[in-house]
Amino acid sequence: MTQRPESKLFYQSRRRRPLLDQARGVYMWDVDGKRYLDGSSGAMVCNIGHSNPHVLECMRRQMDKSSFGYRLHFETEPAEQLAQKLASLAPEGLEKVFFVSGGSEAVESAIKLARQHAVATGDSQRYKVISRYPSYHGCTLGALALTGYAPMTAPFDPMMQSMPKIPAPRAYLDGLDPEDEATGKFYADMLEEAILQEGPETVLAFMVEPVGGASTGALPPPKGYMQRISEICRRYGVLLIHDEVMTGGGRTGAFFAGDHWQVEPDILVLSKGLGAGYAPLGAMIAHERIVEPVLDKGGFIHGYTYAGNPLACAAGLAVIEEIEAHQMMANASSIGAELKAGLQQLMQRHELIGDVRGKGLLLAFELVADRETMAPLPREAGAFDKLVEIAYDKGLIIYSRRTRGGYTGDHFLVCPPMIATANHLDEILTTLDASLTTFTNDLKPDLLK
Ligand code: PMP
Repeated sequence: MTQRPESKLFYQSRRRRPLLDQARGVYMWDVDGKRYLDGSSGAMVCNIGHSNPHVLECMRRQMDKSSFGYRLHFETEPAEQLAQKLASLAPEGLEKVFFVSGGSEAVESAIKLARQHAVATGDSQRYKVISRYPSYHGCTLGALALTGYAPMTAPFDPMMQSMPKIPAPRAYLDGLDPEDEATGKFYADMLEEAILQEGPETVLAFMVEPVGGASTGALPPPKGYMQRISEICRRYGVLLIHDEVMTGGGRTGAFFAGDHWQVEPDILVLSKGLGAGYAPLGAMIAHERIVEPVLDKGGFIHGYTYAGNPLACAAGLAVIEEIEAHQMMANASSIGAELKAGLQQLMQRHELIGDVRGKGLLLAFELVADRETMAPLPREAGAFDKLVEIAYDKGLIIYSRRTRGGYTGDHFLVCPPMIATANHLDEILTTLDASLTTFTNDLKPDLLK
C-alpha cells in the first residue's frame, strides 16, 4: 500500500482508509489501483453513480457563471429551477422549498418550521416531536433528540430535550406478518397511545422514515401502517414529517418513498439522493398551509449560509434530469427486485442470514445467531464490522449497522447506484457469498448459541 504521512484529519476513529483515486459509474479505485464495487452508493448517496458526465458538465457551466450568491443578496436560477422541479415532484400542496446542505440540517429545519407554525397559529403549547426507536434523523442536537439509537445519543442526553419514541414496526422480530393489515394497525396505534399519553395538546409532530434506513436496515412499513399513521396525525392536529433523507431521489422506485402509499405529509425532507454525491445539498419541502402563517407572522427564523448554493442546486437539477432521462427509478424497481431475490437465495445457502428486506434498491439483510428465534449474534462476534471488512478486502463496499439490544442486531445495506446492471448484481452476490462463507468459517462455534 502507498505510504502516507500521519493524517491531520479525524472522523470517528483513528482507522485509516485507502486513498481514493477515482470513481466512475458503480466502481471506485484507490491509488494502488484496487477496484471496489460501490455496493452501498457511499452511504446511500451516489444514486446515479459516480462521475456522471451530464452532471459534471452542468456543474462546470454553472461554475463559469457563479458558484455562490448569498440568499439575502440574490436569487439564483438553479435554486429557483430546482425548487420548481421539487414542488412538481412532491405530493400535492407541498410547494414551498427550503434548501440546506445535508440531512441533519434538513431535519433541524423541519422541526423548527413545525414549531414556528404552531407558534404562529396560536398552538405554542405544542413542542413534542414523536419519532421511532430505532431511528436515525441526524447528528446535530435537535435531530439527535429524535434519533432512537443509544450508541449515538447517550453522551448527549443531558444536553437534549428528551422526545417520546414509539417502536419501529419491526414485524420480522415480533413474529408478525408485515402483509397483514392487523400488523400495520398494531404498530400505528402505538402512535395514538403515545399522543394520548403525552397529551395531544403538547404534541407538535411525528417524524418517520417511510422506509427505514440505516437504523432499521431498509425497513418497509407493514400493510396499512402509513395510511393509519397519517389518519392519527390528522385526528390530533399533529404534523406529519417524512424524513426522506435516504429514500428521497428515487432509490425505492418512486421519487419519494411516501408516494408508494399515497400519503401526503405536511413537511418532507430529502438530501442524500438530491446532491447524489456531487454536492452537499438537501431540501425541506413544506405544505403552503404550514409556511404561509409563519411568513405572515414575521418570517422563518432559520437559515444556513450555504442555503440554495447555485453550484449545488445546478448539480441537483442535473441529477434529476439524469434520473428521468434514463428511467433510473424503473431500474431501481426491477433491478432491486432481482437483487432482493438474489439475497433471498443467499439466505438458503447461509444460515446466519435471518431476514432479507427492503424496497427498490434500498435493501438489507440481517445476520442472526438463530433464525427461529431471531436471536442476534453476540456483540463479541463483531459481525457488523467484520463482514463489511471481509467484503471490502474482496472489492465490494456494503454498509452496516448494529442496532439491537441497546445496540440492535447486525444488518447490512446492499444499495448499489440506480444504474446497476445484471452483471453488477452477479458481482455483488458472488462476492457477498464468498464473504459470508469466510465470515462463517472464522466465527468461533462458541459464539453461536
Ligand atoms: N435522516 C436520515 C433518514 C438519514 O439516513 C440521515 C443520514 N444517514 C440523516 C437524517 C442525516 O443526514 P446527514 O448525515 O446528511 O446530516
